[in-house]
Amino acid sequence: CGIVAYVGHREACPIIIKGLKRLEYRGYDSAGIALLNGNLNVYKKKGKVSELESYISDKDTHSHIGMGHTRWATHGEPNDVNAHPHYSSSKKIAIIHNGIIENYSSLKQHLKNKGYEFHSDTDSEVFINLIEDIRENNNISLAEAVRLALHEVVGAYAIVVISHDSPNQLIAARKGSPLVIGVGKDEFFLASDATPIIEYTNEVVYLNDYELAVIRDGKLEIRTREDVAQTPYIQKLELEL
Ligand code: GLU
Repeated sequence: CGIVAYVGHREACPIIIKGLKRLEYRGYDSAGIALLNGNLNVYKKKGKVSELESYISDKDTHSHIGMGHTRWATHGEPNDVNAHPHYSSSKKIAIIHNGIIENYSSLKQHLKNKGYEFHSDTDSEVFINLIEDIRENNNISLAEAVRLALHEVVGAYAIVVISHDSPNQLIAARKGSPLVIGVGKDEFFLASDATPIIEYTNEVVYLNDYELAVIRDGKLEIRTREDVAQTPYIQKLELEL
């Protein structure tokens, strides 16, 4: 139900945890975080963000890129396994997802027939394996695979995808669920609304439905699902904390 992601010069983990707390008012049943630092590490727990926080307190969370999620379960009961982020089968990419993929069950069957294994009951794990499958079949970039996957899924989503192989890249997309991009100096934020972002920057871009944002090596690119490049429209927020 809530998304926060960060890439930049600061430590990602505290920004993400604090941001998830700011989104707590939206309601949720579990929380999780993925951090990239040589490895792609995922930590997730049923319950409050504060429980996730104590769970990771003895882990090495040093990282400058990561993403966090609070889940409001729609497919699969609230538990540690169904919490986000979800890895793909190869564990090289991971997703956080808000929303519902309505055609997940036919996509899941299709992927199972191809040998994909699933660990959770969520529609979201289907989404990330679909992306992986498209990428491997076509030998294309991750961003391109995400874009093509958007043509296959029916439903509502705000997603962020992160890859073990791209330590400076966040890919995001939305349809029907909100997603805001915070544009700082050599740093970027992603969140379900601006509240986790405003203490760092007041420059934001609201992603539109069927748009894909690729943040790579300090640059933001937005393109439509049909692959038309868009000029990011940066708005200045005048919110006070
Ligand atoms: N449909 C997904 C799930 O059940 C995402 C739910 C949400 O928006 O938090 O895991």
